[in-house]
Amino acid sequence: MLPHFTLCSFHFLSERFGEHKESFLDMTLEKRTKARGKIAINRERCKGCGFCVITCPRKLIEIDTANFNAAGYFPAVFLDGDCTGCAQCAIICPDIAIEVWKEE
Ligand code: SF4
Ligand code: SF4
Repeated sequence: MLPHFTLCSFHFLSERFGEHKESFLDMTLEKRTKARGKIAINRERCKGCGFCVITCPRKLIEIDTANFNAAGYFPAVFLDGDCTGCAQCAIICPDIAIEVWKEE
């Protein structure tokens, strides 16, 4: 039997992944890795957990330790580099603070 936390996390991530699965899974591997993308992080929703920072395969997100948001958290910021639009950052974010755009 799995711990409660693991079951809840799996259920949560499955639901979140479902929001993105059509656009992401329908793409070929070449398109996934070459598509240009960009993200927007809602700094007021962000709690600075850093999940998106460790999840981004391109290392395009970091925590802004110089400025905190209205809730007192150091929010994540997008470094505007070679984003593929893979949406892994948005899928993992527990606060639904990240939007992703992608050019086909
Ligand atoms: S969409 Fe993918 S590549 Fe772009 S910032 Fe998010 S995790 Fe990184
Ligand atoms: S995963 Fe979401 S809440 Fe956590 S640092 Fe990234 S944007 Fe903020």
